[in-house]
Amino acid sequence: MKYPFLDLAKVNAPYIDEIRQAVVDVIDSGRYIGGPAVDAFEEALAKVTHTSHAVGVSNGLDALRLIFRAYIEMGRMAPGDEVIVPANTYIASILALTDNGLTPVLVDADPSTLNIDTALIEQAVTERTRAILTVHLYGRAAFDHRLLDVARRHHLLIVEDNAQAIGAQAHIAGVNGHRATGSLGHAAAISFYPTKNIGAMGDAGAVTTCDSDLAATVRALANYGCDRRYHNLYAGLNCRLDPMQAALLTVKLRHLEAENGARFARAVCYGNVIDHPLVTKPLMTPHVSDCVWHQYVVQLPPEHRDRFIAYLADNSVGTDIHYPTPPHRQPCYSGTGRLIHGPLPVTERLAASMVSLPISPATTVREASEIARIINRFA
Ligand SMILES: *Cc1c(COP(=O)(O)O)cnc(C)c1O
Repeated sequence: MKYPFLDLAKVNAPYIDEIRQAVVDVIDSGRYIGGPAVDAFEEALAKVTHTSHAVGVSNGLDALRLIFRAYIEMGRMAPGDEVIVPANTYIASILALTDNGLTPVLVDADPSTLNIDTALIEQAVTERTRAILTVHLYGRAAFDHRLLDVARRHHLLIVEDNAQAIGAQAHIAGVNGHRATGSLGHAAAISFYPTKNIGAMGDAGAVTTCDSDLAATVRALANYGCDRRYHNLYAGLNCRLDPMQAALLTVKLRHLEAENGARFARAVCYGNVIDHPLVTKPLMTPHVSDCVWHQYVVQLPPEHRDRFIAYLADNSVGTDIHYPTPPHRQPCYSGTGRLIHGPLPVTERLAASMVSLPISPATTVREASEIARIINRFA
């Protein structure tokens, strides 16, 4: 492939000497669980997300699971409670809820942002609703005054699935300025899965929050439930962050702004050059920081999608679909009654029409414009 969808070695190449050194330093230190590499990363991550606590954990799904488990241990939620969540999301958002015995209540997507339609949240609230899990999908902050207003009036916790949007900001009507994803709600989960905007070389994740009780509970739960050594307050898990991953993530975090800026430049290029009657481009908003372009998702009429993907492959352009089957259609949930939802026409249509184009910094702007021209010649 001349234009691969994502070349991770190339993404890491500009920083590879720094990364190697950071990993060697951990090897030489003799500290292979926790220690200064993890502490330094957590401190840097809290700064980037404008929070007071970052707790490094094993991966993004565990970060989400631990947040809800912690709220249950803290008596803020109980199994059987309902959590409002977008239908158009990666399945991990939903798995984290059902793993804790919580009931996901799916809300359809907004056709312009592809995120949760915040106008539909209120009607999904019942007396069992305890939280909204908002997902900043494809890098776009999913947070506005309507979501905030429903949460406040119904005393709901707001949890962010920030796996795809580290570095993005939400601009909230009536609130001055902008706030970083990861600090918008009561707690947030981040993933450092290798393909994410800041990717580890293996699995890694984190919880960010300004709630010190929640941070302490998550930290204990992720370490066998120990609040101090050999004292198990909770029947916990082992979901700790690997210090080698922490060390290399600290290096990569220093380049977050540059990486997200590069993604934005590629999105602008696609936005300017792609001009095809069958191809719907993603929303460009007035605030640059609204979206950190984890994915650049175009839409095709469903009957043309397969042909479009095959045409791009023939022209050496790699693509992907995020995601071809929404969670409520997956065999583990479909027909089980474990998810509450009505008709989800937007989510269903998106699943049949979306195509993700190469957007990582490893695809140059020049290559993005060549890809755009190839798209414009699609017959
Ligand atoms: C990647 C991802 C996760 C899960 O993260 P892992 O680190 O792979 O466990 C959760 N939610 C969303 C939206 C994701 O994209």
